[in-house]
Amino acid sequence: MKKLMKKRSIQLFIMIMAGMLLVSCGKNSGSSEKSGDTSTESVMFEPTSEATETSTPEPTDTPIPTSTETPTPTPEPTDTPTPTITETPTPEPTDSPTPEPTETPEATATPKPTATPKPTNTPVPQITVKPGEKYDFCIDPGHGFADPGTQGLLGKGIYERDVTVAMAMLLKAELESRGYKVLLTHDGVNQPNEDDIMKQADEVGLEYDKSRFTKNKVFYAYERTIWSNVLYRQHAYDAFISLHVNYVKNASVTGYHVYYCTENDCTAKSKVLATKMTEALKASYPKKTVKLIPKNYADAYQVTKYSIMPSILLEMGFASNAGEAADLMNEEWRKEYVKAIADGLIAYKNS
Ligand SMILES: [Zn+2]
Repeated sequence: MKKLMKKRSIQLFIMIMAGMLLVSCGKNSGSSEKSGDTSTESVMFEPTSEATETSTPEPTDTPIPTSTETPTPTPEPTDTPTPTITETPTPEPTDSPTPEPTETPEATATPKPTATPKPTNTPVPQITVKPGEKYDFCIDPGHGFADPGTQGLLGKGIYERDVTVAMAMLLKAELESRGYKVLLTHDGVNQPNEDDIMKQADEVGLEYDKSRFTKNKVFYAYERTIWSNVLYRQHAYDAFISLHVNYVKNASVTGYHVYYCTENDCTAKSKVLATKMTEALKASYPKKTVKLIPKNYADAYQVTKYSIMPSILLEMGFASNAGEAADLMNEEWRKEYVKAIADGLIAYKNS
């Protein structure tokens, strides 16, 4: 019985051991089957690994776009400053003319006293000019008295006649300071008596149209022209210039215009005078539009077509343009401008 028990316990032991072996072997064989699953899982993981690669390229892409974006913004700022610099100078000049009109009211006050006192001094020497005395130039302030001329943006109560008289006074002083003798057709305050003009015109043998004299003390262009002819016969001056201020509806138009008549006895010399004046203005104002404008007899201004001496008409700027109107009312600008006119007149006399 003990042997049987011992035999069974041994069998039991063997069975247990065998069972344990089987279990361990079953685990190994199971892993081999699952390897297929594992391979399947590994396939499943491949996309995962792709996803991992995707996530991997992400950082790879990240630096690329970063580097791509980095160079892109780099040129951008390079371009940005360039147009900024280009645009900056453009608005600057645009702004410059804008503030100028702001100075117009200020400048308006300045010329008033300048024009008013000076002409009071001029009429005396003008009228006491001695017959037969040689002069160099005759200046005609455009308009005057009941003929105001244009106004534009010159300022409240300021007209072309005020500017031309003031400029004529300054030009006369400039030329006299350089040693030249100057006549004026008028000074804005006094004008020659119309009967005296005709009487003196008769005395010097001038032909003229009496019917064109207004007989109303206005001293229009035709009368001023005949008077300048009288002065020429009496004083043999070399050149005549009539000063004016221009006006057009287009406020952006600027520049200085020199006119002469192409169809009278003095055309050849007037052309030289106009050319010298144009050159002098261009030399002093290289950025300005300076035009030399020939006019046939029908279209020419009276002061250039009826004159018997070399003559020009100078439009000194546009009252319709804010910037030039401000210039015309600026005392410092006027003083510089008459220097350029004087240069032109003297260049003609010396030619
Ligand atoms: Zn005029």
